Amino acid sequence: MLDRRKVWNRLEGREPLEVVEDQGQLLVKGRAFEERFPRAELLQDNCAICLHRNPVVYDELLGEAVPEQTGVDRYADIRAVEALTPEEKWQYFEELIAPCIRCYACRNACPQCYCPLCFVDESKPQWVGKGLDKTDLRTFHFLRAFHLAGRCTDCGACERACPVGIKVRQFTKKLEKDVWERYQFEAGVIVEGRPPLDVFLPDDPQEFIK
Ligand code: SF4
Ligand code: SF4
Ligand code: SF4
Repeated sequence: MLDRRKVWNRLEGREPLEVVEDQGQLLVKGRAFEERFPRAELLQDNCAICLHRNPVVYDELLGEAVPEQTGVDRYADIRAVEALTPEEKWQYFEELIAPCIRCYACRNACPQCYCPLCFVDESKPQWVGKGLDKTDLRTFHFLRAFHLAGRCTDCGACERACPVGIKVRQFTKKLEKDVWERYQFEAGVIVEGRPPLDVFLPDDPQEFIK
């Protein structure tokens, strides 16, 4: 999927009216211009690293299967954040969420955020304040990310919906990475069984679980 912001940024104020794929490139047309871009440069960040370009489960596959990407480093950006000191990480996430206006478009667009009553909307008890207080802002982002651990498919809908361009996948992708590394589980791909964070095992090796 194309990243609209990347398209607009590359056009520097000119309005795109049509985008067509042509010989592996993207032809962007406007009122008095046509410009070509390499397809990879305008993809959403999650699409650029996607390993499942074909549906994993389907009844009917429309069209031909497309080649899957290989040799993709899915977590380069997350490793860069992991390598920061605690103080640098704090600063990084403070700056990341600073423009947030708490519109909840990221949550509303997320296919995994389907709770009848989200924790941010609950008032008895109230888990988090409604305003832009820094602590409340952090609580919203951290808690929502943890709620998506083992369930986030990295579909990118949250980032696409954010009106101020916050890379909210920086939270969920870290948890997606951890779930993969610890449990070799990828949400939306393994159909049989329950997600690893959704099961209780009496012989769980981690004492604190009991
Ligand atoms: S990338 Fe993850 S958190 Fe964002 S919308 Fe998709 S499933 Fe939800
Ligand atoms: S943020 Fe948590 S509580 Fe709210 S809808 Fe998403 S999963 Fe449910
Ligand atoms: S969509 Fe963007 S601005 Fe709105 S709550 Fe989510 S991160 Fe904040």
